[in-house]
Amino acid sequence: MALIVQKFGGSSVANAERVMNVANIVTDTYRAGNDVVVVVSAQGDTTDDLIEKANEINPRASRRERDMLLSAGEQMSIALLAMAIEKLGCPVISLLGWQAGFNTNSAYSAARIKSINTDRLNAELDKHRIVVVAGFQGKNKYDDITTLGRGGSDTSAVAIAAALHADRCQIFTDVEGVYTADPRKVENAKKLKEITYDEMLELATLGAQVLNNRSVEMAKKYNVEVEVLSSLKRVPGTIVKEVTTVEKMLVRGVTKDNDIARISIIGLPDTPGIAFKLFSVLAAKKFNVDIILQSVGRDGTKDITFTVAKDNAEETVATVLENFDIPKENIVCDTNVSKVSVVGAGMETHPGTASTMFEALYAAGINIQMIATSEIKISVLIDLDDADRAVAAVHKAFFPD
Ligand code: ASP
Ligand code: MG
Repeated sequence: MALIVQKFGGSSVANAERVMNVANIVTDTYRAGNDVVVVVSAQGDTTDDLIEKANEINPRASRRERDMLLSAGEQMSIALLAMAIEKLGCPVISLLGWQAGFNTNSAYSAARIKSINTDRLNAELDKHRIVVVAGFQGKNKYDDITTLGRGGSDTSAVAIAAALHADRCQIFTDVEGVYTADPRKVENAKKLKEITYDEMLELATLGAQVLNNRSVEMAKKYNVEVEVLSSLKRVPGTIVKEVTTVEKMLVRGVTKDNDIARISIIGLPDTPGIAFKLFSVLAAKKFNVDIILQSVGRDGTKDITFTVAKDNAEETVATVLENFDIPKENIVCDTNVSKVSVVGAGMETHPGTASTMFEALYAAGINIQMIATSEIKISVLIDLDDADRAVAAVHKAFFPD
């Protein structure tokens, strides 16, 4: 007998039929002799709808009240799923985050899990009940409801798996697993059997929307093996783990991120400390700066170009103007860009990955604006209009056939 944590996202519980489908998966797992803890998200677009409701009344409402509202979506889905499981004749109980022992800090709307008191979970499992837990929420030291940030239910599931030392943590979604590229866009994209935490973290951060990146960080920290699989088609998914043993692959995936902007600052003084000042004022705003390029100084000035999330672009420009004595025309902000990346732990030991990527882009007639590399990733910044073509061309270079 094993203890299995199963998480179902919003699309997997979007309507009554989908909820019954999930109840079938859960009860099959239970009837096979396993203890089962289920974590669910709010149905479909419920969380977005709740945000809209809040904004209708007060767009500047306090975060505490927003969390109180947003957590309601998951309360609905746990009760509905528990009712569906009752209907299929299995013992079940639904629990809100706080009832399941989730203690978080007080950062409303972006709370971090501090601990999970597993007493209630264990007591319910001892009664041989299926336990259905609301994802995305907990309570802080004031006994107030907090939420973990958008997409936070993945993290709830991994945290429970870690706290209960579960044998398996399955994240069910509407795709069959993690692919070498977006299967809706790239013809030959193939499903991976396994991927390492580090590769998955890069892919999650780069915009592959299968797992929330905080959940991958947590899985890595507590060494929880996570399986990503489909709730609609019962086939094996992709296992995320420390070291992969099947499929030796140089490159594990090709992704694009269109949510970025390129900022160029021209004519900064060519003196020590300028980069430090620039990036520390941006860090103070919690803006994530990605690819950075600094020109060689000439005539006492230098240029710095970098990328930030599109959402932060405007405020970045304003911040730079506030902190540096340069004319407005010296800052250029381009949102018409995309970052295309290849990710793979294998490239650490294999030279030539970059040239394969650049050759594929050259053959497709795509101009590279900026390049950034890490041990397991190569990213290029290109024109937004070329993004899909670039992903296809690069994917083909690494995955011919
Ligand atoms: N319902 C929340 C959201 O939409 C949490 C989640 O789906 O994981 O962000
Ligand atoms: Mg959701």
